[in-house]
Amino acid sequence: MAAADFETPELQEYTVVPKLQEGTMAHSSPFIAKEKLQTPLGFPGELVDNWEEKVITKMDDLRGKYRGFQVFLDSCVKCGACTDKCHYYLGTKDPKNMPVARQDLLRQVYRRYSTFAGKFFGALGIPGFVGAADLNKEVLDDWYSYFHQCSQCRRCSVYCPYGIDTAEISMAAREIMDSVGLGQKYCNEIIGKAQTIGNNLGLPEKALIDTLEGLEEEVEEDTGVAVKFPIDQKGADILLVTPSADFFAEPHVDGLIGYAKVFHEAGASWTMSSHASEAANFGMFIGSYENMRTLSLRVRKAALDLGVKRIVFGECGHAWRVAYSFLHTLAGPFDFLDQNYPIPQHICEYTHDLIEKDALKFDKSENDHMTLTFHDSCNVARASRMGDKPGGQMEIPRAVIKAVCNNYVDMPVETIGEATFCCGGGGGLLTDDLMEVRVKGAQPRMEAYKSVVDNSGVTNLAAICAICKAQFTKILPQYGFGMTDIVSVHQLVSEAIILTGSDDDTNEDSDTNESE
Ligand code: SF4
Ligand code: SF4
Repeated sequence: MAAADFETPELQEYTVVPKLQEGTMAHSSPFIAKEKLQTPLGFPGELVDNWEEKVITKMDDLRGKYRGFQVFLDSCVKCGACTDKCHYYLGTKDPKNMPVARQDLLRQVYRRYSTFAGKFFGALGIPGFVGAADLNKEVLDDWYSYFHQCSQCRRCSVYCPYGIDTAEISMAAREIMDSVGLGQKYCNEIIGKAQTIGNNLGLPEKALIDTLEGLEEEVEEDTGVAVKFPIDQKGADILLVTPSADFFAEPHVDGLIGYAKVFHEAGASWTMSSHASEAANFGMFIGSYENMRTLSLRVRKAALDLGVKRIVFGECGHAWRVAYSFLHTLAGPFDFLDQNYPIPQHICEYTHDLIEKDALKFDKSENDHMTLTFHDSCNVARASRMGDKPGGQMEIPRAVIKAVCNNYVDMPVETIGEATFCCGGGGGLLTDDLMEVRVKGAQPRMEAYKSVVDNSGVTNLAAICAICKAQFTKILPQYGFGMTDIVSVHQLVSEAIILTGSDDDTNEDSDTNESE
């Protein structure tokens, strides 16, 4: 099947390590951010004159700040264990998409200018002798191209005996490039919108309110129950921070309806915020602590202004990583919240707790027209946790799905959990100017999906990440699947949940139980 100007890979029965095709993705580069997107984020408007010198200074600065970055640059022994672990290498065949080769694009410059051997052999004109290379425009172009062919998924780090995390190197490379005026349009435009308007899509408060009112009408029409979608409600107990795609895009919005039904059935007092109407935090993708912090502080401000006691995050992979792993450092302390609950809490944890307490009723047969599998999102699986046990981030979403669906099958074990394959669109790559790398990078996930479609009759793929959902909506048809195969986990909850007071409710006391 041919897409615009490239061939969609043919799916194999299982993922095969391809023969190398050098330079095959060298042409792939995202649009460069113009001055009006760069300067509000604190970056130069265009490539600065003395960029070579500034690149080295910034790299030295980051090595001093982030111990892991320094260790990762020094500790690779070229064992090769990571070489066939990246979906972008498997899908594109380009050797520079092997994690070790991607790292070396930056490491060679580090060696040349920041190590004794590099300086010595560099002065003799033979830097390559110690794996070093001069920094020139060709090298910078390679950085811009190949560090935007890494979704920062961390799969390679799982297989590296030294735990070297290419995602960290990719983030550092993007931060260095931004610092000399070479930023990516897609990420920086989104960060700007989230910082000024409050969400990635640039939806103003009025549009949010209209959308939520529309959802209230839709759900009441559908179920006969007045499920609320509150926003900016001072004094609510729970602040829900969710990706802005949840407000309108399919299948995301069906997930938002699911959260609202769960809150309704729990009798919870909850609200969303027009100030923090975005869970996503693209500051992480460009490695910018300052921009990540600015976005996180909006969540803190919203929680304080509304006087909530708890913060719950909706379905978004990297947002959960930022929330779970960094929120306290970026925007804490959260001593004003109720310490009896996780700070923050994932919506899957919230729903799972209610399921465990038998506080929700389901009609699982509502999902009988589907056989589900679950796509573990990279940032949830490899960079966060849920619940109080290791692996909870894999078990809890599956437990929620199984509580609301009768038919569930996992994809092959080497493609799920900690070993999950990226959807191909994470890490700031979810833009049409990177469509080729997105389609090709999705090949391993599509092969795993195909195996359960063919062998176990799977019909749908559930996910808890806004980026994965958006990516699969576009990519599934490229591989011959339906774009609606992708579903939100809370969409499944929404379908099966029995609302008190609805026609499906068999509880005789239902009229007196309705929650506000
Ligand atoms: S972090 Fe993911 S995308 Fe980046 S090199 Fe490693 S496996 Fe590839
Ligand atoms: S697995 Fe680790 S040590 Fe081995 S080549 Fe890859 S990054 Fe280097």
